[in-house]
Amino acid sequence: MENRTELEKLGEFGLIDKLSQSVKKYHDSTIKGIGDDAAVIDVGDKFMLVTTDTLVENIHFNLMYTPLMHLGYKAAIVNFSDIYAMNGDVRQIVVSIAVSNRFSLEAIEEIYAGINKACELYQVDLVGGDTSSTLSGLVITITAIGEVAKNEITYRSGGKENELLVVTGNLGAAFMGLQILEREKEVYKENPAMQPELEGVDYILERQLKPEARKDIVHFLHTLGVKPTSMIDISDGLASELLHLCKAGDLGCVIYDEKIPVDQETFNAAREFNLDPSTCALNGGEDYELLFSIKQTDYDKIKDSPHMKVIGHYVDKAAGASIIARDNTSLPLQAQGWNHFS
Ligand code: ADP
Ligand code: MG
Repeated sequence: MENRTELEKLGEFGLIDKLSQSVKKYHDSTIKGIGDDAAVIDVGDKFMLVTTDTLVENIHFNLMYTPLMHLGYKAAIVNFSDIYAMNGDVRQIVVSIAVSNRFSLEAIEEIYAGINKACELYQVDLVGGDTSSTLSGLVITITAIGEVAKNEITYRSGGKENELLVVTGNLGAAFMGLQILEREKEVYKENPAMQPELEGVDYILERQLKPEARKDIVHFLHTLGVKPTSMIDISDGLASELLHLCKAGDLGCVIYDEKIPVDQETFNAAREFNLDPSTCALNGGEDYELLFSIKQTDYDKIKDSPHMKVIGHYVDKAAGASIIARDNTSLPLQAQGWNHFS
């Protein structure tokens, strides 16, 4: 019998690690390949950034509660977010869709209306793509191309001991929005006559269905004269992304539970579901906020911004990654995040 390794055991990141081992590099213009939020390519006086993300029906979205326009919008945003995570700006996208004859022209046009809206708001050109078919589901893959001045690029790996770890916005909202939508879906399946209970959850639903990418933060930091030393976008949950930054930078970190920004609506919803709000912020995905490090000397420049919060700092690798709980106990930081294969 041949060797057979179960993907479940490897996990998504284990699989990527394995695949990257067989990848060779032939061009000096390839500055950074696999392993950051976007690939980095030297195109002369600037770096070009390239990233791609796929959304698969019934894995990443459910059409029972996802409007097609929102889906298109989100498919674009999740890609923009990876370009901003390199401290760059998005210029173009290409869009590939695979559909079955379950979908009409009007349905696909709705998806494109959402993509076009995102392109308008973020000033991005849609320059091509591919159209293909599936036996049943819908798959959207978008590739975003961006650029960044060579001295502005920020990698996951650039952090140093004692630098401050900062997150933008608030976390866990998209995850709680998803819990609400899933709950209402189940209620509807049981009894289609029931009206959905969606009062007081507008914000978290929007965070799930129509997320934004933090272009504003990249520009704001630029104006403040702050260059993040390392950066990643929060797509799989804060804990998972922190571990990526630590691994890339050969560092450890300490973060403080009480400093993690959680919106009131997220907090209330978490309580309603008997979940710990901090756990939702640490392990819930799809926030598309930015997590970055800054030099301590830059603290004064960002400390008054309501959009950024210092949650901890980098420490020596040997100290590992830990979170200080509200009762002051220190716990090892663990990523639950997404495992596509479990
Ligand atoms: P993100 O969450 O920022 O989109 P991913 O976790 O999807 O990043 O990917 C991490 C890194 O692995 C990226 O550099 C990405 O380009 C690369 N990668 C992911 N899947 C593959 C693959 N199938 N083949 C080659 N590289 C991949
Ligand atoms: Mg990313």
